[in-house]
Amino acid sequence: MTDALRRIPQVDALLRKNCAASLIEHYGRPAVGAELRKALQDVRARVLHDPRVPLPDFDEPPFWAPIETQLIEQTRPNLRRVINATGVVVHTNLGRSPLAQEAIDAISRAAGGYSNLEFDLSTGQRGSRYRVVEDLICQLTGAEAALVVNNCAAAVTLALAAHAAGGEVVVSRGELIEIGGSFRLPEVITQGGAKLREVGATNKTRLSDYTAATDEDTRVYLKSHTSNYRIVGFTAAPSRSELAEAAHTAGLVLIEDLGSGALVNLDAVGMADEPIVRNILNDGVDLVMFSGDKLLGGPQAGILAGTSAAVAALKSHPLLRALRIDKLSLAALEATLRLYLPPHDPLRDVPVLRMLSERAAQLQPKAARLAQDINDAGVCRATVTEHEAYAGGGALPQQVLDSWAVALTHDELTANALATRLRDGSCPVIGHIAQNKLHLDVRTVTDDDLPHLAQAVNAV
Ligand SMILES: *Cc1c(COP(=O)(O)O)cnc(C)c1O
Repeated sequence: MTDALRRIPQVDALLRKNCAASLIEHYGRPAVGAELRKALQDVRARVLHDPRVPLPDFDEPPFWAPIETQLIEQTRPNLRRVINATGVVVHTNLGRSPLAQEAIDAISRAAGGYSNLEFDLSTGQRGSRYRVVEDLICQLTGAEAALVVNNCAAAVTLALAAHAAGGEVVVSRGELIEIGGSFRLPEVITQGGAKLREVGATNKTRLSDYTAATDEDTRVYLKSHTSNYRIVGFTAAPSRSELAEAAHTAGLVLIEDLGSGALVNLDAVGMADEPIVRNILNDGVDLVMFSGDKLLGGPQAGILAGTSAAVAALKSHPLLRALRIDKLSLAALEATLRLYLPPHDPLRDVPVLRMLSERAAQLQPKAARLAQDINDAGVCRATVTEHEAYAGGGALPQQVLDSWAVALTHDELTANALATRLRDGSCPVIGHIAQNKLHLDVRTVTDDDLPHLAQAVNAV
């Protein structure tokens, strides 16, 4: 036994072999050495287990090939393109909004060279990055002024720090939301140096609840969009205009955290209930916040729009520097906002809105094409079936979008095993398991991705 163990070479000796040379060149000596050490440990364990097993030939491919596979695996990007076949359009775990080509081009222009990010080309003086999008946001929402930060959570943090620090924020108990990732409104309020004053009940809050809670410490009435749940049934809440009037009479600021926030009417998409930013400002709300990468269909960003006074307090707040938007997101945001203006049509040109507005009848042939490609290859069996898609991103949580999917089965693999294989491929695919079948919803699969999706399925 000790003899066999003694014949196992040292890592250094293996690193000097011809087979190691090109691996070292590609992956570096430390990485190759680390993989060799693991491989030798395996060999040693096998010998200890059974001294009669022959040692591998350390000069031949069967010993080196798995090492190379491991090294290739390690250099694959950790952040990868995946195919979203879940039917959830704004999928928070899958990167939310895919960007329009115009936005991708804008990122690439801003990334690859210098830009006038904070430079005023007309005066040659220092400029502000926020002017890149402020006028566009005002034009699209009717706001007097606007500002953008890193994301909507940052926007809420900034708005409360700037308007409520040292005072009280009145919020309905029905709107004390957790957004996800433990970002809870009550904690954000406290963190911003303000005190939370809860009013009303979970299902009902009246205007008089707000006014009765108002005293000389009150700074803000805060509304938040209950974006990831709904309270239905025996409910009541004052209208925005009533609340705005009461806030202004008392010298307070009315702030609304919208989360998703649509810029255009989504009736055509069947999402008539989703609040539109312009209408909310018209109702008298002083400041609204919403995400760049939910229904807007742009990059991660938090947009604040409202009155000049409400926005001015944000622009001069020291937190703004820490929450600021980066130039690549800003470039993509500007390009996305321009898709809402002529000659563009946002429902056609913003990918998220295009996916939401596709009719089920248009999706059925797409699912049929996919099923055909899969059945022709004969690896899995595919049937075309109706499926429920969702907007996601906290917009209209219960509203189902009628959609079509391919339901996959495999003779030897369970739905779970099939899902694992598809996640593991070179082009990972994420689907949805129901009734022991893996469903691939085509609403969120672009025409360009469709052949890749079929290939991935046929390669499981
Ligand atoms: C999603 C959401 C946020 C957070 O937005 P991010 O851009 O993800 O930071 C805040 N408020 C509401 C109501 C939301 O739905």
